[in-house]
Amino acid sequence: MKDDIVADYLREILIELQDNSEGEVADYIPQLADADPEPFSVALCTTDGQIYAQGLNEGDVELEFTIQSMSKPFAYALALKEHTLKKVARFVGMEPSGEAFNELSLDGETKRPMNPMINAGAITVNQLINGEESPVEERVEKIVEFFSELADRTLSIDMATCNSEIETSDRNMSLAHMLRSYDMIQDESHDAVESYIQQCSIKVTVSDLAMMAATLANGGEHPVTGKQVCSKRVALQVQAVMASAGMYDGAGRWMASVGIPAKSGVSGGIIGTLPGRLGIAAFSPKLDSSGNSVRACRVFEHLSRDMGLHLMAAEKRGRVAVRNISTVEGSAADKGIKTIIRLQGDIDFNAGEKIWRTIREHEFASKSVLVDLDKVDEVNDVGERMLRELYEHFEADGYQMELVDSDGVLSR
Ligand code: GLU
Repeated sequence: MKDDIVADYLREILIELQDNSEGEVADYIPQLADADPEPFSVALCTTDGQIYAQGLNEGDVELEFTIQSMSKPFAYALALKEHTLKKVARFVGMEPSGEAFNELSLDGETKRPMNPMINAGAITVNQLINGEESPVEERVEKIVEFFSELADRTLSIDMATCNSEIETSDRNMSLAHMLRSYDMIQDESHDAVESYIQQCSIKVTVSDLAMMAATLANGGEHPVTGKQVCSKRVALQVQAVMASAGMYDGAGRWMASVGIPAKSGVSGGIIGTLPGRLGIAAFSPKLDSSGNSVRACRVFEHLSRDMGLHLMAAEKRGRVAVRNISTVEGSAADKGIKTIIRLQGDIDFNAGEKIWRTIREHEFASKSVLVDLDKVDEVNDVGERMLRELYEHFEADGYQMELVDSDGVLSR
């Protein structure tokens, strides 16, 4: 018997791709140029908190590496948590730039960086955290704390990588100077870059990343601790921007071929989120010319294709929401007949629409109706609103309504 079908499947992907040695490790950060190119790992975290992590060789799953640009979505989430979307959007846009990560893409009119996934946007987002007056250490502390909450363990900064990047940060420094000249950031350029690079140098494992991504996929509710780490609205916003701008100049192609909102980092990782379903992370240090890990990209392609994870793939919906409508003998008050409507499965917008339609077309034998929810698994907000409206609609029409909800799937 197989140990575990998911773990075995992930391992098979790693083995299939192990001979792919294309790409080069990032060399513009000296410390990364020395990285071992071999490690190869993948992790999935379901929105109910199950983690599957596999590495090609021993130690790959436990290996810590710097988060780099995969920090950008999470820092954006923190800025949105501290401010309103309106305020953040005054400083950073949400349009894909279609350019390389370190391009100076500013909106021609407003001079805002195009989005928070490119460096200019990420430096600006970093500056919004912990208030304008915050010293670098306190701002970074806030970020490390937030990332630790997402990873459900205490994270720390790889100071060696951080210092080596600061020494070679002319490009980011020039972005900061430009941002300052347009009043997009307040700190001295050096401080702004140092703060951003420390954010990029937080150490994570592939499982940490999958869990962090799963929190976004789960509407901001941490899949393991159950804590609401950021609001649903923030999680939605971050993933929407990842979907359009997460893969830099390859974002459109990525969305069409892989269809998973994602963000890559030059250390060799890629994170992905599937709203309501999964957080995904893959890691291997060799990069293609756009700065994305070659093997990690292939892992995502496999997952998308083999496990049907493309966001735009039209999956056939589950069971029909109305299980059956039947009549039973009722009391005299029921005029002898009671109609029972049995619902089932998950009640969302589609199910709610189908229930309304089925019931409106039904010819009722009496004005006594019982709605049975005992075979319903879950009702989301829209589903609940639609059920309530249906119920009230019937009552207003003079029906005597009864509800059976033994498991309490409705909120009140
Ligand atoms: N710290 C890196 C930089 O700013 C991150 C780039 C990346 O991971 O894409 O250059």
